Order: sequence, then structure tokens, then C-alpha cells
Amino acid sequence: MSASIDKIVENLIVFLDEDQVSVNQIVRELHSKDESYHDASLPDVVVFPKTAADVSKIMNVANNLQVPVVPFGRGSSLEGHVIPYDNGITIDFSLMDKILEVREKDLLVKVQPGVTRTQLNKELKKYGLFFSVDPGADATLGGMAATNASGTTTVKYGVMRDQVRDLEVVLADGTIIHTGSLAAKSASGFHLNGLFVGSEGTLGCFTELTLKVYGIPEFTTAARAVFPTVKNAVEAVTSILQAGIPIARVELVDESSIRQVNKFSGTDYADKPTLFLEFEGNEAGLKQDVEFTKEIMEDHNCEEIQFETDNTARTKLWDARHNLAYAYIHGHVGKKMMVTDVCVPISELANAVIFARKELDAIDLPGGILGHVGDGNFHALLMIDMSNPEELAKAETFNEKIVLYALERNGTCTGEHGVGVGKQKYQAAEHGEALQVMEKIKLALDPNNILNPNKIVQIEKIDK
Ligand SMILES: Cc1cc2nc3c(=O)[nH]c(=O)nc-3n(C[C@H](O)[C@H](O)[C@H](O)COP(=O)(O)OP(=O)(O)OC[C@H]3O[C@@H](n4cnc5c(N)ncnc54)[C@H](O)[C@@H]3O)c2cc1C
Repeated sequence: MSASIDKIVENLIVFLDEDQVSVNQIVRELHSKDESYHDASLPDVVVFPKTAADVSKIMNVANNLQVPVVPFGRGSSLEGHVIPYDNGITIDFSLMDKILEVREKDLLVKVQPGVTRTQLNKELKKYGLFFSVDPGADATLGGMAATNASGTTTVKYGVMRDQVRDLEVVLADGTIIHTGSLAAKSASGFHLNGLFVGSEGTLGCFTELTLKVYGIPEFTTAARAVFPTVKNAVEAVTSILQAGIPIARVELVDESSIRQVNKFSGTDYADKPTLFLEFEGNEAGLKQDVEFTKEIMEDHNCEEIQFETDNTARTKLWDARHNLAYAYIHGHVGKKMMVTDVCVPISELANAVIFARKELDAIDLPGGILGHVGDGNFHALLMIDMSNPEELAKAETFNEKIVLYALERNGTCTGEHGVGVGKQKYQAAEHGEALQVMEKIKLALDPNNILNPNKIVQIEKIDK
């Protein structure tokens, strides 16, 4: 880095208030890590912009001084995305947390990037609306767009990329652009929404997002279905999808994870492979969907199925599923969590999960498997003692085996968590020549490589 910290601060306080610029050790430490096992690294300065104009001027300073910049939402990412390994400036978007406009008739909402998904859903409820993407953690919408987040509702509503109608983006040189419009469809120009969503802060900083929202369904029913084997459970899901039942959520939790859920949430679910499901719609349609699903489950040896229509019981059931990662963390104090994240074609899912379970048993580390099985995306959660290099090496080898298994079947190394630093080593194997196209795009938009450098792509490889 060419500029001293004093020089950076001197340039920033020309247009930012002093309390918007911090070199405080505790503030820097809070921005030195994410929720993963990856090593921390301190930023030199943390800034808290209030407007797109602030962000533009910050980018001007950084670009002129050639200082790295890392955008930061909530820091809930899982592959080291926000860790500033090259130090520099971290831009924390927590002061840009306004819901700017709810366009009820257009089913759109305009938000600043620091708005969290629970904050948004609380506001939308007043209008009978909701925002569909639910990554478990209470992430910011800026961070969720930057990682193309998804979660339990994706099987019905799609991923973050499907929800973004427009982004206001500040580029590396401070230019402010819009990537879309309010129109429901467009055949005009390159699909910049698609390019920027999932770019993990490497191509620009999002300062405003226009997102699709949905009407809250009239009725919702949740269910828990227990199976003798993972294969039975996954095959039941495939049959449900093939039958065209519009399921809203379907999650697989394996038996060791059910044991962890029971310990953490005080439930007494049978410790066998279990599907957590949700159906929504009008009363008549829902009844039909539920009956049809029951028949399909029985065909696949379902041993127990329990439906919950009552709001409290439904919430309890889904809280148990959503708290699974925290159940592992609380159950293994002092250890760090590694989460694998491959996604495979749904026809390969049952064997992929069985393969992962066998490999997990072989390394003998505490952990379990859960999956967004309707999408072919599953996670193995492993708890690692970071002071034991052998454990970390075993976990990394395991992760690699799962990734290579998925890539051999035309899947992806990350279904939703993103690349960050953890999945960078698989980019060439997954994308081949297309990785060079990504590197060229990065270089065209950020020639000084200041935006979240060395995440997703390594641009040093390029001949300038
Ligand atoms: C318990 C747990 C469960 C999780 N489950 C899921 C899951 O089911 N599905 C899923 O997808 N993820 C999941 N995650 C991961 C995480 O919640 C998501 O990656 C989330 O989208 C990150 O949002 P954030 O606000 O924390 O962003 P951060 O972690 O702060 O940042 C993530 C990335 O976005 C960039 N960024 C942040 N804000 C902006 C901006 N305004 N402009 C441009 N770039 C920006 C950062 O530079 C970084 O590269 C989980 C995490 C935890 C801890």
C-alpha cells in the first residue's frame, strides 16, 4: 500500500465527519473477521458513509492513493469475504439503513444497503408483503446481493439475483451507475444486475437496491417428516418437485444434526434423517398439496409426518432448523465452524449426501449435514479446534473431497455462501477459460485492483 494511515485519514476527514472515520483498535478488530474459520486481518481505517456521494468520494480517495477497500455489511459471510488481507479501508454500511420507498402496486421496495432482512420484513408486514430471501443470519441486503445469497425459501422464490431489479453502484473510480430499472423485464443492454449481484465487493459498492417483494400467503402449513435413510428423504423431495407441488421450503437435516437440534432447542424429534417442509397458498389448494405430499412421502417409506398449522408451533419447528448452526457452535465452545456448500444437479443429491456423510464419519470430527434439498444444495457443518493443525488439515481435505465430487458431476463449489478466499482455489477447475473473462471484467472496472482485492479472482496473473 502506497499511502500512510495518516494520509488516508487526512483525505477522508475533508468530507466525512470525524465520527465517520475510525482507527480505533476495537472497531478495526470488529471488521477484521467474518463468521468463518479463516484467519483475521485488520483494516487500517473503518469508515461509515451516510450517502452514495460519501461512498463516491471515499472511492476517489482510495483510487487516487491506491488503497484497498472492503465493503462490509454485517460480517456474517462464511468464506473470509470481508477480511481485509491487504489492510486499507473498510466501508461499513450500517449508517445507510433506510427503507426508502415501498412501491406496493409494483411489488418493489427501494432500500439502502445496510438494511437487514428482518428490518425489511418488519416494515413490509404493515403492507401485507414480505421479502423472500432468508439466509438464516440477519444479514444486510447489500451483503446478501453481493454474495447472491439464498436459503430455505429459494426452492419457490429463487435466489437473491432473481429479486434484484436495480442497483445503484459506486465504481472503483467513484462513478455512480444504475444497473437496471423498475421494469419487470428488459431486453436492453448487458445484464449488469446479474454481473454485480454475487461480485462480493470486487466490482463496486452498492448504495441502493430495488428488490422484488411478495404478498404474504393466506395460509401456511409446516411439516416434519422422518425417514429411515437420507436416500429415502431426498428421493421423496425429487418426487414432490416432479409432481409440481409448489413447496415453499424443504430442508434435510441428518440424524446427528437432529441430535444437536434436540439438545439446543429442547425438542425430542426422532434422531433419523428428517425433512422440514412448508406449504403456502389458499386453503383449498394447500389441502390438496398436503394430501398429495403425504401420499408421496408414504411411497418413500416415511415413518412419521407431523403437520403444524398453528403459528407458534410452526415458528418453533422452523426455529429449531434455523438455529442448527448456532446449536453446533454452542455445543462446541472454543471451536470454529467450517461449512461446506456444494450444489449438485438434484439427481446427484442423494449420493452426494451419502458420500459426504461417509467421509465425515471417516475423519471423526463433530459435525452434521443439512441441505436445501429442493435446490440440490447441502452443507456439512464441522467444528474444528483451530489450535490443532491436524484437525484443520483433516477438515480442509474433507471440504476438498466434497467440492471435487460436486465438480465432477457438473455442480458448483458454492451454492450460496460465495467464493471469498475459501473457494478461490477451485475457480479455475470450475470455470476454465471463463475465469479469464471474469479477470478481464475485474480489470476493466477496477484497473488498480483496489476493490476487495484477491477475492474471487487473483488479478496479478493478468498481463496489464
Ligand atoms: C449461521 C449462519 C447461517 C448462514 N446461512 C446462510 C444461508 O443459508 N444462505 C446464504 O446464502 N448465506 C448464509 N450465511 C452466510 C451469510 O449470512 C451471507 O453470505 C450474507 O449474504 C452476508 O451478508 P452480510 O450483510 O453479513 O455481508 P458481509 O459478510 O458483511 O459481506 C459479504 C460480502 O458482501 C460484500 N458487501 C457487503 N456490503 C456490500 C455493499 N453495500 N456493496 C458491495 N458489496 C458489499 C462484502 O465485501 C463481502 O464480500 C450464513 C451465515 C451464518 C453465520
